Amino acid sequence: MKQSQMLIPTLKENPADAECVSHRLLIKAGFIRQNASGIYSYLPLGYKVLRKIEAIVREEMERAGCLELLMPAIQPAELWHETGRWDIYGPELMRLQDRHGRDFALGATHEEIITSLVRDELTTYKKLPMTLYQIQTKYRDERRPRFGLLRGREFIMKDAYSFHADEASLDERYKKMYEAYTNVFTRCGLDFRAVIADSGAMGGKDTHEFMALAAVGEDTIAYSDSSDYAANIEMAEVTFIPKASDEAMLPLDEGQAKQDGQALIHVQVFKDNEDQLVAVLYAAGDEVNDIKVKNALNATLLEAAPEAMNWSQNDILTHFDNVTILADNGIKNIVNGVIEASGKTLHFNVNAARDLSNVQFADLRMIKEGDPSPDGKGTIQFARGIEVGQVFKLGTRYSEAMNATFLDQNGKSQPLLMGCYGIGVSRTLSAVAEQHSDENGLCWPTALAPFAVHIMPINMKNDEQKTLAEKLYQELGHQYDVLLDDRNERAGVKFADSDLIGCPIRVTVGKKASEQIVEVKVRRTGESMELSVDEVAAFIE
Ligand code: ATP
Ligand code: MG
Ligand code: MG
Ligand code: MG
Repeated sequence: MKQSQMLIPTLKENPADAECVSHRLLIKAGFIRQNASGIYSYLPLGYKVLRKIEAIVREEMERAGCLELLMPAIQPAELWHETGRWDIYGPELMRLQDRHGRDFALGATHEEIITSLVRDELTTYKKLPMTLYQIQTKYRDERRPRFGLLRGREFIMKDAYSFHADEASLDERYKKMYEAYTNVFTRCGLDFRAVIADSGAMGGKDTHEFMALAAVGEDTIAYSDSSDYAANIEMAEVTFIPKASDEAMLPLDEGQAKQDGQALIHVQVFKDNEDQLVAVLYAAGDEVNDIKVKNALNATLLEAAPEAMNWSQNDILTHFDNVTILADNGIKNIVNGVIEASGKTLHFNVNAARDLSNVQFADLRMIKEGDPSPDGKGTIQFARGIEVGQVFKLGTRYSEAMNATFLDQNGKSQPLLMGCYGIGVSRTLSAVAEQHSDENGLCWPTALAPFAVHIMPINMKNDEQKTLAEKLYQELGHQYDVLLDDRNERAGVKFADSDLIGCPIRVTVGKKASEQIVEVKVRRTGESMELSVDEVAAFIE
């Protein structure tokens, strides 16, 4: 591709509203443009990278035996009523009406649609197991879209759904998808970890999130410094509370805060080492600002770190540690509490499996860095992560609600067992950019680079340079995606743009063109050398 004919609108200045490295560089290097909050266009370079990620995802899905299909983005409300999610999904679900006044949702996820499809098709065990996937645009009216493509309101997701006759088959599929995800993110060049995640909100059981490590990540990972243990802190929180006995290892019970605002607060109650009741609050879903906790009985307001405004869901965990939150209201087995968030009130009550009438206020325990770990190896460290993917055993949550059954070997009707598996394709693009850049711009891993080679004649008015550059462009073009900077710009401008765009290899054609010598530079390491023209192809390999 000749740069003079490309649309690569690089910017000299940093975009004012960019909130993190990837957001800043993807805009500055002309990969994306914002159309509205959380809504972006992929310009030619950005789209090239996106397609390369999609190709990797497709290859790994096909290799894992998944079948590609495409479902509609517009989904009838009736299906969401069947699962009850029309009412519980909240304002993140974008809703619209057609000219007849019928309700629809823009697809935030596709469990309802896929379950409605398979209940008519996968009606016998003979057709099971099966895994279907799509790569498609998703819509979520995020409360706070930010960080460019990392948290968009329109974004691209690969979502897969598997259907099984028995648990063993679901387990096997889960493992296979876990491996496929590991392959995808490794091939994309991401530094990532798979972490145990919280399955509460979706009502399933096993689940792992794939986290790209980055300071800008909105999730906190608690990992052991000397074993493979890693968990989303939402989950680690629950796992790590010190307990007196095996019996007390189990949470006494779990309740969910009644939703009266944006946030859904989960409450879990434990007995700790001193046999004290300990409560853990964690938010699933959206953000909660300015949290205050009060005792339901006497309405004493307890300020929770008032300096912390705009808390993210992880901050809620880390800021609650000096707050006493639970009170016994005198009624056996029930703990009540009230959380005020964003001027709204969240009520919670938890059925604890014991008499709470004598329980004192219990300190909320927080897992901290340096704590011993749950598997007995090493101590806990924290890291920030970007959730690029998640695998999930759904069980029969959707098939039961939507009556998706099959006939088993004995002719008995059973609900389909399901798994679901998501990859944020556009988020992955940003996560890679977040991890692969330096002060001059992007440094794409070869597998995702918009162009493998950037050829840079310093002076297009010099015939020798121009001819040699065009010759290289033709030759290398047989094997690689090549970009030729044939613009009549100053060398400084061309080099700055080239660093910003971040192709892995740059071939500069300058003064030594007459001797058939060019400079080859590796973007990532800065390593450069002079090579004769015939050596270039071999070097790139
Ligand atoms: P998050 O916790 O970041 O809100 P999620 O858990 O709600 O993500 P899932 O429902 O698990 O997301 O969707 C599957 C994948 O889609 C996620 O792992 C993530 O990579 C991607 N994704 C989710 N929300 C967004 C978004 N707003 N913008 C871009 N990608 C997203
Ligand atoms: Mg979300
Ligand atoms: Mg999540
Ligand atoms: Mg998720």
